[in-house]
Amino acid sequence: MKLQNDTSEIRLHGVPASPGIAFGPAICMYNAKTDHERKTIPESDVPTEILRATHAFERTQQELQKIKQSAQMRIGAAGAMIFEAQIMILLDPTLASAVAESIKQKSLDAESAVADEFAKLETPLRASQDSRMRERAGDFADLRQRVLRNLQQERTRFKFENESVIVAESLSPADAIELSNNRVLAFAIDGGGLTSHAVILARSMNIPAVIGLRTAANCTDTGAFIIVDGDAGIVIVNPTPETRKTYELKRERIRLLTERLSDIATLPSTTTDSRHIILEANLDRETDIAIARRAGAEGIGLVRTEMMLMNRNDFPNEQEQYLYYKSLAERMHPHWVTIRVFDIGADKIISAFPYDEQNPALGKRGTRLLLDNENIFITQLRAILRAAEHRNVRLLLPMITSIEEIWEAQEIIERVKSDLRRDKEPFDRHLPVGVMVEVPSAALLARGMANESDFLSIGTNDLTQYTLAVDRTNENIAHIYEEFHPAVLRLIMEIITAGHQEETTVAVCGEMAGNTLATALLAGMGIDELSVATSRLLPVKSAIRNVSMSEAERLTRTILTMRTARDVRAYLNEWRTENDAT
Ligand code: PEP
Ligand code: MG
Repeated sequence: MKLQNDTSEIRLHGVPASPGIAFGPAICMYNAKTDHERKTIPESDVPTEILRATHAFERTQQELQKIKQSAQMRIGAAGAMIFEAQIMILLDPTLASAVAESIKQKSLDAESAVADEFAKLETPLRASQDSRMRERAGDFADLRQRVLRNLQQERTRFKFENESVIVAESLSPADAIELSNNRVLAFAIDGGGLTSHAVILARSMNIPAVIGLRTAANCTDTGAFIIVDGDAGIVIVNPTPETRKTYELKRERIRLLTERLSDIATLPSTTTDSRHIILEANLDRETDIAIARRAGAEGIGLVRTEMMLMNRNDFPNEQEQYLYYKSLAERMHPHWVTIRVFDIGADKIISAFPYDEQNPALGKRGTRLLLDNENIFITQLRAILRAAEHRNVRLLLPMITSIEEIWEAQEIIERVKSDLRRDKEPFDRHLPVGVMVEVPSAALLARGMANESDFLSIGTNDLTQYTLAVDRTNENIAHIYEEFHPAVLRLIMEIITAGHQEETTVAVCGEMAGNTLATALLAGMGIDELSVATSRLLPVKSAIRNVSMSEAERLTRTILTMRTARDVRAYLNEWRTENDAT
């Protein structure tokens, strides 16, 4: 598989997916060979091949049972359902007998027969107009890989004694969960968006990860020494002693910094000249709340409620949502919990909702989709309004592109309030409603958006994607996805200014908020709140505590005169080094 046999240093650039630096020996995981040479066999081998196939099915089933149990523990019963569905496919006797028939009738070896029979199931699903069917094709493909790997007896690679860096062409959710039972130091993954489950898992376990590497599996040998820099999105195979030394120092610096940072958990996020910037956490998983509290978060600035819908085939009903939102509100009280309504669509495709868009990022997503599916919206609004009884919940509308959308949403919110009044359900009559500014049209109309809402929250992930016309999930153009592009920075500045003209607070909750390269710049622009991934709370707080507003404003004025992202980054890097901000 490896392209070259020498051991010279290879440096690969990908997309940073989970922060931190780790290094150690690599374990390479290739997808099962789908290009397996089609083999016919003599009649005398038929019973052996049928037996091999039967054993592979059995082994796969046992593995999936274990993965299911592990998944139940790590991500809950709903998340484990996908594995139950795969087990059911394997238990269906028609598939096993079709494979046996194929071996017998066409004199095929077990691998070819398995590949043929799975193809018969996968092909029509893949061609379907219905996105749920296409997703199901993915489940079959995962399963086929697993059976083939068992036939090829490659299972041992999933179990290893020593700490290792996983280098993989792609990772299915099942692979990620299974691997996490071992001592995984880091992930280096060739694929992009498809690995998002692995990425979510990596982040929640604090394992550095880089995705979108494209050639890592090809240029790494199992056992090779490999460095994963999850902050910069760089992977280095066979590093020279000098590179190794540099990264050892970097890792040590991060370790010391993390140790030192824990001291500031209880200190305020104020600049040296006493400007307080509210520092909150983004919540993707319920477990984030405990980490957020420990790190001294002053609230939750973004609950990505659509994460509740992953790995399940239905929408949670009002009561289930209410209990979840209420528990978040209680655990963060008296701080704000900002609940964003379901941002379904684009790359966040869920089984519970048939989604078939030609161009998903520009199709129905976020608030647009909810306005068109009032029943889903109303159920969620009822749950949020009820959970807001203690007045520390705010509601956030994603992907707003026009003032009319805010009006439409508000009209529905008012209707839900009067229903709750009629039903004598307690709720917050003054629930603040905020708008996410993540599309250029909303940014350009920010003053109107601020005037029509209670707060603004800038989604820099999408704002970058839509301003630069760069798909944020596409690894082929990841190098031009650039949040420090001057056009993006100018829009952010305009949104903050417009918000303040209307006396509306402005937050940033995209990934940029957690990047310490941007902290002083955002402070200088006058940002009121930053909402960041839990692992970024302390580094960002430290960066805030290291700067004065006058320095930050001076920095911002300089940066806003620049014409290229390269200049912006170079200047900010230099400035950060000089100012020793984290
Ligand atoms: C954003 O777009 O910046 C954002 C916070 O929303 P998400 O990443 O969930 O699209
Ligand atoms: Mg967004």
